[in-house]
Amino acid sequence: MTVRLREAMATLPGYVPGRTVAGAIKLASNETPLPPLPYVVERIAQAAQTANRYPDNWSTELVEALAARHGVEAERVVAGCGSVSLIHQLAAAVAQPADEVLYGWRSFETYPIVAAISGADPVAVPLRDHVHDLSAMAAHVSERTRLVFVCNPNNPTSTAVHRDELVRFLDAVPDDVVVVIDEAYHEFVTDARVPDALTLLDDHPNLIVLRTFSKAYGLAGLRIGYGVSGNPEVPGALRQVQSPFAVTTLAQQAALASLEPEAESQLMARVKDIVIERDRVRETLIAQGWTVPQSEANFVWLRLGEATMDFSAACDAAGVSVRPFAGDGARVSIGTPEENDAFLTVAAAYPTRT
Ligand code: PMP
Repeated sequence: MTVRLREAMATLPGYVPGRTVAGAIKLASNETPLPPLPYVVERIAQAAQTANRYPDNWSTELVEALAARHGVEAERVVAGCGSVSLIHQLAAAVAQPADEVLYGWRSFETYPIVAAISGADPVAVPLRDHVHDLSAMAAHVSERTRLVFVCNPNNPTSTAVHRDELVRFLDAVPDDVVVVIDEAYHEFVTDARVPDALTLLDDHPNLIVLRTFSKAYGLAGLRIGYGVSGNPEVPGALRQVQSPFAVTTLAQQAALASLEPEAESQLMARVKDIVIERDRVRETLIAQGWTVPQSEANFVWLRLGEATMDFSAACDAAGVSVRPFAGDGARVSIGTPEENDAFLTVAAAYPTRT
């Protein structure tokens, strides 16, 4: 049987999740290698007692906690079923056919997908040396541009843009165009020149900053992220297009528990360990002869080009799953020191260097 789908479906790019292979070391999805804190697991278990009830549709307690933490009104904060859900909601609320959705490329693969779903035209501006080329992006802003994504640090290249260039870019975008700064990896940033985009909201009310509990907070499996906007209109629009009850009580409670000072300081200590490992992995790769862009995230990028799939197969053969982007490069998440060593052993033995 053939059913009729939207024309866009014929060419919709697919989302390729990092593979989970039984028994293999998974360095493919930028997850945290350690399980949630026992305290957080306890709160999840408590929340499970109310699983016969729908969750609070607006994640009120969490939104208020996040608003207080970031010093903004609660109406400027919106929670989502992972920040990826907020990205879909942004496209649904902002972009339509004949509009343009602008982003750097290569970047997070959800951006072209949501652009295509909305029917808007994607405008993908090539990175320069694996870093967002914000002046080229500014040159591509047109009267049709409605939505802009800047992923900082960038997935999958791990690089980050600096405050001065980001501010220059924001100044160049008309103030009725929604700009999204996707800071999924913000907590791993160590370069002081990379801004906390929340500090840019006052001067740029058209901005929305996305954060997630999936990476530094180790809750990828529960699906919870949030946005902080320079204005209340965008969060309001995102709530309008949200699937009802998208954020579970388990996720809301786990996020709240993770924000409590004792839990959060333990989680941020883990982030520090990951950052130390990230720098060790990069330096080891460089000593092996690889060229590796500076990483401000919890992963590194190997610019393998045509060798990418072969390299990924070599990793698979050694029981290590990485995330290849055919013809371009491989993204390797930072795991525990032992997991990273297993990866470094494969990299050391690989015959070519890029
Ligand atoms: N943005 C970026 C740049 C990401 O890499 C990811 C996760 N791969 C997300 C958003 C989505 O994260 P989540 O939906 O788990 O919050």
